[in-house]
Amino acid sequence: MKITGVEATPVAVPFRTDEVWAFGRRRGQVVVLVEVHTDEGLSGIGEAAAYPSTDVVRAALGALEPLVVGEDPRNIERLTKRVEVIGTWHHMQQNSPALAAVDMACWDIIGKVCGQPLVTLFGGRFRETVDFFYYVSGADPEEAAEQAAEGAERGFGTFYLKVGSPRPRSDIERVAAVRRAVGPEAGIRVDANEAWSSGTAIRVLRAMEEHGLELAEQPVSGRNLAEMAYVRSRVDTPLLANEASWTRYDQLEVIRHGAADVISVDNQMDGGLLNLKRSAGICDAAGVPVLKHSLGELGVGLAAALHVMASTPNFIYANQAYSSLLADDVLTEPHVYTEGRLPVPQGPGLGVALDRDKVRRYAEAYARDPGGYAFHDRQRTADSTPLPRL
Ligand SMILES: [Mg+2]
Repeated sequence: MKITGVEATPVAVPFRTDEVWAFGRRRGQVVVLVEVHTDEGLSGIGEAAAYPSTDVVRAALGALEPLVVGEDPRNIERLTKRVEVIGTWHHMQQNSPALAAVDMACWDIIGKVCGQPLVTLFGGRFRETVDFFYYVSGADPEEAAEQAAEGAERGFGTFYLKVGSPRPRSDIERVAAVRRAVGPEAGIRVDANEAWSSGTAIRVLRAMEEHGLELAEQPVSGRNLAEMAYVRSRVDTPLLANEASWTRYDQLEVIRHGAADVISVDNQMDGGLLNLKRSAGICDAAGVPVLKHSLGELGVGLAAALHVMASTPNFIYANQAYSSLLADDVLTEPHVYTEGRLPVPQGPGLGVALDRDKVRRYAEAYARDPGGYAFHDRQRTADSTPLPRL
């Protein structure tokens, strides 16, 4: 079997409410859907996060296509290693979502050839369902509490808030409001996206700890692991590495520096599902739990990661996904949460199929306004004070 082509389709699906964080705003999710076609008529589907932009991903896919055409999609180690040594593909981060999408589509083909869901090929069902957080994007305490109450009503047990705003007091007030809304047992996770200095991180996290925190995600720069280790030594809340842990090599450094209690891992940022499994293995050997980070995804990318999360023991925390923000999806059978958890698809490969009408509709939405769903927001970027924030 040989790969004959890689087809890329950017789509834009709106959020129900805007996503707002320390230095940006998004009103919907753009991803590049990828189909890998073969000479035997079998195709696989994948999905690339539009990181750092849709144009960069499309260009990377264009550069990748001649490197994989003619290769057997079942030889994923050979295929990805070959790509990594050609040109500068070993500089992984900017190119990674493109390679991750091709890897995903190849795995879909392999699963279809074997007649097995990927979870079986990745080690089998360690767990039947996978836990996810509820994304609370509300910008003020009342709105955040309302959204969190809605998530609690739907059975979610972990609530995620962006913090690191120019007014730390408002972040603390949102945490307090969410705690009142979700009750004493639920997990509240805060993500500062590196916004704080170490002094601010310690002061603000200690104030938030009065309301109970599950994890504090990347409170300070991910490039200074000694600073992370210092903050970790001064607060009671376990730290979660994210911007510090994009690739396997970064994760190894976080472990060496004792910079975090939990580590984010992501196939989109590190070249595919095999590397996601490897990341979890590196952390497992160090006794560190992991959770799946998300740059935002639709149902294809979520399905792919589900197979690895379900088959890998140390995914013990609620994982990230954008489903609670999305107004729609592109699958014939969208993922349905029960008590904040998703079952692993049963069918062969990824176990999901594209709804072609929806793909067409959201491809048109992207084409009408390609810049409208970008990661940045000009006004918010202009208003933002420099980091770290005091
Ligand atoms: Mg994060």
